Amino acid sequence: MPKDSSIQHIEELPHSQKKIHEHWMEKALLLADQAEQLGEVPIGAVVVYQDAIIGEGYNLRETQHCALAHAEMIAIDEANKYLHAWRLDGATLYVTLEPCPMCAGAIINSRIQTVVYGAKDPKAGSAGTLMNLLMDERLNHQSQIIEGVYAETCGEKLTQFFRKLRKERKNKKVIHKTVDNLEN
Ligand SMILES: [Zn+2]
Repeated sequence: MPKDSSIQHIEELPHSQKKIHEHWMEKALLLADQAEQLGEVPIGAVVVYQDAIIGEGYNLRETQHCALAHAEMIAIDEANKYLHAWRLDGATLYVTLEPCPMCAGAIINSRIQTVVYGAKDPKAGSAGTLMNLLMDERLNHQSQIIEGVYAETCGEKLTQFFRKLRKERKNKKVIHKTVDNLEN
């Protein structure tokens, strides 16, 4: 079986390759921070082609009131526009969280060669966790997958975000209760 037909973990790769993947994932992490500044779930993505970023995106679901506005979808859209082509052969997508079924579909439809992700997503992960759409040989395209790049940093960013959100919601409830008490 060729090596490419299984998911690779970043730690299995030679040091020089690992450094390259970390470099691009750092860019995706910076985009995740931009999402967070808008109060969005912090997920970022970049599309890299011939050693340059040709598309970038971060989660904008709340801001745009759009279920399609995932980081990967925005990055792929930008890359398509940049190349004036729907095909992204030879491109690599870096994303801080494992792609969901929708984004995995967009990855297949844009023929992205390699997907590199940080944290696994136990609730929607479609690149190895719940299913692996990217390597399903019944579909007309398969991507290579490299997982675990800055997995802890990517995951921790999400954990912190949700922790903060829960705390804020709790505080809000307390305020509402106080107002209720004052009104009654
Ligand atoms: Zn998605």
